[in-house]
Amino acid sequence: MAFANIENTRTHPPSRHHTPLDTLSRGVIGLDTVYPVADGGTRRRTYLDSAASTLRLAVVQQALDRYLPHYANTHSTLHYAARLSTTEYAWAHRMVLEFTGADPARWMCFFTGSGTTAGMNRVARTLRHARPARDVVVTSIMEHHSNDLPHRKHFPEVIHVPSVAAANSLGGVDMARMRDVFATHGARINYVAITGVSNVTGILNPVHEIAELAHRHGALIVVDAAQMAAHVPIRISGNPDPAQDVDVLVFSGHKVYAPGSPGVVVARSELFAPVEPEEVGGGMVDSVWLDRYTVSQSFPDREEAGTPNIPGAIALGAALYALHQVDMAVIAEHEHRLMAYALKAIAPVPGITVYGASDPAGTTLRTGAITFNLEGCDHAFTAAVLNDYFNIAVRNECFCAHPYVREMVMASLEEAADRLSNADLERLADERRGMVRASFGIYNTDADVDALAAALRAIAARRDELMPLYERQANGDYRHRSFRFDVAGTYSTRAVVDAFLAG
Ligand code: PMP
Repeated sequence: MAFANIENTRTHPPSRHHTPLDTLSRGVIGLDTVYPVADGGTRRRTYLDSAASTLRLAVVQQALDRYLPHYANTHSTLHYAARLSTTEYAWAHRMVLEFTGADPARWMCFFTGSGTTAGMNRVARTLRHARPARDVVVTSIMEHHSNDLPHRKHFPEVIHVPSVAAANSLGGVDMARMRDVFATHGARINYVAITGVSNVTGILNPVHEIAELAHRHGALIVVDAAQMAAHVPIRISGNPDPAQDVDVLVFSGHKVYAPGSPGVVVARSELFAPVEPEEVGGGMVDSVWLDRYTVSQSFPDREEAGTPNIPGAIALGAALYALHQVDMAVIAEHEHRLMAYALKAIAPVPGITVYGASDPAGTTLRTGAITFNLEGCDHAFTAAVLNDYFNIAVRNECFCAHPYVREMVMASLEEAADRLSNADLERLADERRGMVRASFGIYNTDADVDALAAALRAIAARRDELMPLYERQANGDYRHRSFRFDVAGTYSTRAVVDAFLAG
């Protein structure tokens, strides 16, 4: 089976006038990676999986290359490299506050683990201890498990507010229902934990409006900015009304063009100051005696026990500074246009269902991701064919947001319930419990969208020829019956080390 008529073209047409955004988005490591495909030959990869992890900006790599000859542990200013590392590590924190618009007089930030998950666990535990009388957390059905399970673990009650609209076009969080929850549980609510942007539909939530509502009831707002930070400007403080300010915001460095960098928590200092951190050890104490110790009052030290990921922090600082200089408003505008183009380009594909509310006037704000299914195709099958034949990297399944995905997929099955037998309905339910997600970054262009739309049209047209070429695995993945991707032959860490040692 051949698809030679579909090309993954160079993403950037030549232009004489480069904007800073052009310069930044052309310098990306991994955009031009070429892989073999199942119909013979090779194709340049089209990377549409940035919601999972973005590629690394070349400028981030350049900063690391220039920094590493000076590498040394922080927490010392005595020798030159330690002083340089300590200075740059502190700068990365200042950069986070600047990037998120947080006033350094009242907000601090610290780095945790590898992403949002570690930070969200820390936030849930701390706020439970800091405000014990308030034992309810409000969240939504749209949330990634990382912004749901930590609250369930630390609080006796978590309320999930539904999304607006219905069926497969769920929108953002339902503000009327959110207001009802506050009217009923007001004084018990510790905080609202809400995603700024859905990792499933790319739909934006009105975080500042939610902040106002929460603050009116003495509650806090915790924003999951994992899918927000790379796509839209963030303004933690200095909003027109201080009640709209955000108390805590968490995001992942690997989703803002700096894979290998840490997760970030930005929070009002006063919330974390009274609670002893869960992790204790070196670097976060002032004095230690055999029978007691005193925890440092200074941030981020008290929240960052042990030796930090210094190169990761520098990579993050470089990425955030570059995005800030380019201007997140410019990036948001670029991606808004790309999203509108993508929704329009894939809408006519025969048998496609695009999930999440969107209207022709473009009033439902979406960024970063589009999810869909093709009629008669398991999501895992579509994703496998996009990869194997077109070298288009997407993600499938439920994206760690089971309730939101289930709600949308099950709604589409109800329509079929009358005309199908129970066995067929069950098979369909099994098959459909997931979606395909194409997600975007600053480096994606109309040509990437065109390649996706053309590939989807080809799959829809030739589904019956493609199906027999695949075998469904026990874990739900689809495996091509004859084509194999040679992982070890493409890259192997061991081989790199062996070759180095062999001189
Ligand atoms: N929240 C959202 C909205 C996400 O998209 C993700 C990652 N997919 C996370 C939280 C978890 O982030 P991480 O895997 O970096 O911990």
